[in-house]
Amino acid sequence: MSEQLTVLGTGGTISTLPGADGAIPRMTADELASSLGVDRIRSKDVFTRSSREIGPAEAWILASAIEDEIRGGATGVIVTHGTDTIEETAYALALLVDARIPIVLTGAMRSPHMPGADGSANLRAAACTASCAEVADYGPVVVLHDEIHLASLVTKTHGVSVAAFTSPAAGPVGRIVENEPLLLLGPPRRKALLSRRAGPAKRVEIVNVCGGDDGLAVESAAQRSDGIVLAGTGAGHVSAAAAAAAQRAVADGIPVVFTSRCADGLTLAGTYGGPGSETELLRAGLVRSRFLNPAKARLRLLFGLSAGLEPDELFPSTEKGAS
Ligand code: ASP
Repeated sequence: MSEQLTVLGTGGTISTLPGADGAIPRMTADELASSLGVDRIRSKDVFTRSSREIGPAEAWILASAIEDEIRGGATGVIVTHGTDTIEETAYALALLVDARIPIVLTGAMRSPHMPGADGSANLRAAACTASCAEVADYGPVVVLHDEIHLASLVTKTHGVSVAAFTSPAAGPVGRIVENEPLLLLGPPRRKALLSRRAGPAKRVEIVNVCGGDDGLAVESAAQRSDGIVLAGTGAGHVSAAAAAAAQRAVADGIPVVFTSRCADGLTLAGTYGGPGSETELLRAGLVRSRFLNPAKARLRLLFGLSAGLEPDELFPSTEKGAS
């Protein structure tokens, strides 16, 4: 089968041009694609915006655009995206798109007009990755700074560095070396894909829980949300007052997921006891995110509830391995 890559543009720093007040996303996907000098390449602008304006509704539109490209014969899709929320869109696509071809998201930390701009190197690395059929097994991946990251694990850990991205729990799954992807770790045991899918029809709120939290933030989130994600301390622990508020929410039929606010956050299941511990939260009917960070747990709960899935189907207590 001959190669047919597509670049889908969504905006972000990789597509910025200097404006009166600073860099603004303006370049088209076509301009980005033609800079690659590849013969068979299509391009389409899905959005041209900063990634802080790309949420679940936009991820749903992007998922459809990718499916259109697959139906049109694409052998690999590259999504150019702002880095601020690239990890969220990548994970949303991992939930929504059952792709048998590589889906690669990339962006840039420096605008094209800045010295040492990284966008063109990242785009080229993304194109090499999208040309490698084995990458499809990993689900959507994020390629930045010559590293290939799994959508479920990757996170932005620095505001400005070109080396801003890491996958804290396990590291990148591969690297780009001499214009080829070198896949260092095998694909995940299970894809993050949801068994059923529907557009984002539910509201899920993340509540940051601080030491001594009085539970009011959880209580007010419960009044306006279909689900809550707690960004808890350490291994997902929350204060007794926050735990009590979360327990009331669950009793009222609002699913609550506990996650960790740590940069490399895992949640426990059976180490600590007492108010707000993981054992008490699980006993009260909360579910845990295991290794997913709060933003990704929110997307899983939001798209899963929208598709009519139950919280413990979405966050099973016995599952092993990353997805
Ligand atoms: N503000 C930009 C965005 O996320 C940052 C970037 O692309 O690096 O859209």
